[in-house]
Amino acid sequence: MQIEGELKQYDMVVAGGGPSGLFCAHCGAMAGKAVLVLEKMPSCGRKLLVSGTGQCNITHDGEISAFLAHYGTHGKFVKPALLQFSNHDLVRFFHARGLEMVTEPGGKVFPSTRRAGDVLAVLISECARSGVDIHCNEPVIGVAVSRGGFEVKTIRTAYISPHFVIATGGVTYPATGSSGDGYTLAASLGHRITEIGPALSAVRVKDFPYPDLAGMSFEDLRISVVRQKKHVWRNRGDLIFTHHGLSGPGILDLSRYIRAGDQILVSFAPSQEPEEAAKALHAALLRGGRVQVATVLRGIGLPDRLARRLLDMAGIADGSTCAHLGRSARNAVVQLISGHPFEVEALAGFDRAMVTRGGVDLDEVNPKTMESRLHRGLYFTGEVLDVDGDSGGYNLQFACASGVLAARSIAGVATKKRTSTP
Ligand SMILES: Cc1cc2nc3c(=O)[nH]c(=O)nc-3n(C[C@H](O)[C@H](O)[C@H](O)COP(=O)(O)OP(=O)(O)OC[C@H]3O[C@@H](n4cnc5c(N)ncnc54)[C@H](O)[C@@H]3O)c2cc1C
Repeated sequence: MQIEGELKQYDMVVAGGGPSGLFCAHCGAMAGKAVLVLEKMPSCGRKLLVSGTGQCNITHDGEISAFLAHYGTHGKFVKPALLQFSNHDLVRFFHARGLEMVTEPGGKVFPSTRRAGDVLAVLISECARSGVDIHCNEPVIGVAVSRGGFEVKTIRTAYISPHFVIATGGVTYPATGSSGDGYTLAASLGHRITEIGPALSAVRVKDFPYPDLAGMSFEDLRISVVRQKKHVWRNRGDLIFTHHGLSGPGILDLSRYIRAGDQILVSFAPSQEPEEAAKALHAALLRGGRVQVATVLRGIGLPDRLARRLLDMAGIADGSTCAHLGRSARNAVVQLISGHPFEVEALAGFDRAMVTRGGVDLDEVNPKTMESRLHRGLYFTGEVLDVDGDSGGYNLQFACASGVLAARSIAGVATKKRTSTP
């Protein structure tokens, strides 16, 4: 660090000491840069500490080509960062520092200790080892383009640097420090911010009929979002009833597209397309004869309590047999099972959603470097960008990879494909 006039000078100033900012800072310092991290909170990585319910689902198993579909419509943007620093690189990075990773059967990767704190401890100690200055309790409150690059203003002082990295995260769980400051900083430099909203969020359903079944979970259901009578998005995945509506990976991963007033259609026949499920159930009820309708529903894997509630909703008396079922009752129960409608009242708020959809407009950022297309030397990494991943480790992977890519770009060492760890 040098003092230029009144201002302290660094090669890189990073706003935000989350996983993205810390990876970026460490990687920049390893490349010989004088790096300062400015963190608003009394300590770094508070959101990282609550990730994966404190266990930190840091990435996902598999090839990077399979990752790209897990960032909504932004797979193309995240590709260069993920190729530069892949899930395998991330696992190797922690392995080399004594923290092993384990993969769950579904592909989620966690530290073997199941403690997010261990992941953060590695990042902090690597930053210390590589000589990064970290100033906590020092929020960035403004930035201006100046002769030497950027004049970064904090509540205490100002710094000058040719490279300024905005890694301030999104706006969800604001108590962790990520409260949207990055959008204000980016906008003050002329960047567009796309519409912000909660993602990886549970859905509150209008007049939810099953609050008493909260906690009931289902595997591999077909779920679709209907807006103005059109199916606008579809997904398949696990679902869970809450006291107020729907959650579980199948809903969380769709939530970036869901808006209040949408209708969600759920097919409760596991692993079947709704049309197939409707046809099969119809046929089973027609040939069921003296078999109770509830027995047929249990036969397709419906929990007994839900089967009974669905029959009730369809106006079918408990104990009715298939032979007793009139056409309209049969159609009603088939529809409830193959496409149960739920009207969306709202998504969980920013204080409950896991990530933010929207952010710094990707059209104004170079995905091969993370550098702003408006200002040389300005970089954006992690969740402050208009990138949100599915549940399963995709958000932390992008946060880390984009931080590494920005640092390598600043240090002039980014390549098309690297496999080494920083
Ligand atoms: C409950 C929960 C569970 C999650 N679980 C997972 C999971 O298991 N797997 C996964 O992949 N993702 C998970 N996520 C998402 C993931 O944690 C984030 O996407 C990730 O932390 C983003 O990293 P980041 O570095 O971009 O931002 P953040 O982690 O949000 O860090 C940004 C940092 O910037 C600081 N900051 C903000 N404004 C300023 C300012 N003005 N000046 C200085 N510093 C500032 C903040 O205090 C913060 O420390 C979870 C999120 C939540 C809320």
